[in-house]
Amino acid sequence: MSLAKALDADQRADALEHLAAGELDVLVVGGGIVGVGAALDAVTRGLKVGLVEQRDLASGTSSRSSKLVHGGLRYLEMFDFALVKEALEERGLLYTRLAPHLVRPVPFLYPLEHAWERPYVGAGVALYDGMAMTGKYDMGVPKHKHVFRKQLARMAPDIRTEKLHGAIRYYDCQVDDARLVMTIARTAANNGAHVATRTKVTGFLREGDRVVGVSARDLEGQRDLEIRAKVVINAAGVWTDEVQDLIGGEAQLDVDASKGIHIVVPKDRIRSECGFITKTEKSVLFVIPWDQFWIIGTTDTAWDYDLAHPAASKTDIDYLLGHVNRLLKDPLDHRDVIGVWAGLRPLLKPMRKEGEMGETTKLSREHTVANPVPGLVLVAGGKLTTYRVMARDAVDHAIRDFDATPASITDRVPLMGAWGFEARTNQRVALSRSSGLDIGVVDHLLGRYGGLVDEVLALIDARPDLGEPLEGAEHYLRAEVLYAVTHEGARHLDDVLARRTRVSIETFDRGITAARPAAELMAGALGWSDAQLEDEVDHYLRRVEAERQSQLMPTDQEADEARVKAPDIV
Ligand SMILES: Cc1cc2nc3c(=O)[nH]c(=O)nc-3n(C[C@H](O)[C@H](O)[C@H](O)COP(=O)(O)OP(=O)(O)OC[C@H]3O[C@@H](n4cnc5c(N)ncnc54)[C@H](O)[C@@H]3O)c2cc1C
Repeated sequence: MSLAKALDADQRADALEHLAAGELDVLVVGGGIVGVGAALDAVTRGLKVGLVEQRDLASGTSSRSSKLVHGGLRYLEMFDFALVKEALEERGLLYTRLAPHLVRPVPFLYPLEHAWERPYVGAGVALYDGMAMTGKYDMGVPKHKHVFRKQLARMAPDIRTEKLHGAIRYYDCQVDDARLVMTIARTAANNGAHVATRTKVTGFLREGDRVVGVSARDLEGQRDLEIRAKVVINAAGVWTDEVQDLIGGEAQLDVDASKGIHIVVPKDRIRSECGFITKTEKSVLFVIPWDQFWIIGTTDTAWDYDLAHPAASKTDIDYLLGHVNRLLKDPLDHRDVIGVWAGLRPLLKPMRKEGEMGETTKLSREHTVANPVPGLVLVAGGKLTTYRVMARDAVDHAIRDFDATPASITDRVPLMGAWGFEARTNQRVALSRSSGLDIGVVDHLLGRYGGLVDEVLALIDARPDLGEPLEGAEHYLRAEVLYAVTHEGARHLDDVLARRTRVSIETFDRGITAARPAAELMAGALGWSDAQLEDEVDHYLRRVEAERQSQLMPTDQEADEARVKAPDIV
């Protein structure tokens, strides 16, 4: 059994104590991918680091992406070669070294509607693979391949091939985004970072011009604290403008929110060996294999409502169904939709005048680091895939006035669970025999916990009922709910059903049946009273209902009004 540090209630209490005492080198605001990446980068350079997140880890955009670790084929068309190359290098690094247990290759078909597309798209995909092969790290995934019409019909029998001129198959990678964030946070904590969730920054501490820390509120303990730090890195995603407002004066970054939604349908509704990517008027449509499901996304529209609970409207869902149905022999409809989520892209905008709304699709996905006042670094934009580069750049900026500090080493810091993953995978048959779990279940656990699978198996060994499937979400084990609380920082039912597992988007009832059994498993570990347990279940059911109602609404405004009826539980 490993001695890996757990994110649990004691760790949170300990982190808050350390944050309030003494001076940190770097305090990071925001527990999305960029924030946790910055915390890991800084702490592994030998700095004293804290991180505060106002809600759960990855509760913002970083649990709501398309979950692709990719170069972004479409950015090639925009001639954004540097961005694509950098992202492809990060893809290779994550898949082959940093998180081989979490990142996996996905084959995509790019259907060709016109004969002239074959040389055009073929050249683009060849360039894409070429960039990955000549990058700093291994490419890791197979090369692209031309597919002709008959072969396409065999590979994807449910696709309308009669008007197609074949396809090109290429590979990208995917990851459970929320799990990646939690794993990076845990790796940072394991290296000594003080990570506290449900802790909201409410203001900045100033000495003259300089930011010397933040005032924050521990939302669970209902107490205010001051956290002093030589530098604060703000990685607040679409909340960047709000945090900038706390320092007053001239803002340096203008971050807009662009909404993208996804729907989930059962795997058997589309028979295909590969996912798909096709162009739409504004962007691209992805059909992505995801365990026993397909993820279909995404949209790209400006969002001016609640940042914490972006809502998908009926119009958004209709848009996706309309586009995917152009590809399919047997069209999908609303009854096929198992799960839906909406996320907000933090898009950097050139500074603009008040009241102007711009087209969001054309804004840059690249990141920017700014330094509006001494002691404060802002980082925003970018992609999930390139979090490590953003984090490195932000920390490089933050330490400019420090005495000699080592350069970033995160390209050599495998995330927790990476170590032991290959060995445990080779031992999967033996693990299945010794644990009594089906080999498919062992594979599922390896793909979520990697080398830390031993910790989950130890829970089951001590309490065999935990080796049973979770009622209402049988593709997860009961042990995974408990482990989410004891090792992965989950504090509420929502954290477990929406982020540590993806029950909320992977079951037709959106986790309603699983809610009570999961809450009962959590209650013991978190010391909930009966009333708290009921409150958690009730809150979760209200959240599901609010989301369902919002998805029946034609406009964003009505969808937002329906969704905000179920606020967060703290
Ligand atoms: C629909 C969609 C699809 C996408 N698909 C992909 C993809 O497939 N691949 C890819 O590489 N990228 C993708 N992206 C982009 C990627 O998801 C984002 O760039 C990334 O998740 C942003 O991370 P972040 O850390 O900047 O923001 P967030 O994840 O939003 O994190 C910011 C955090 O700051 C916290 N915070 C805010 N204010 C405070 C405060 N006052 N105190 C404490 N905490 C605070 C918030 O609660 C939040 O958790 C996609 C984005 C969207 C929306």
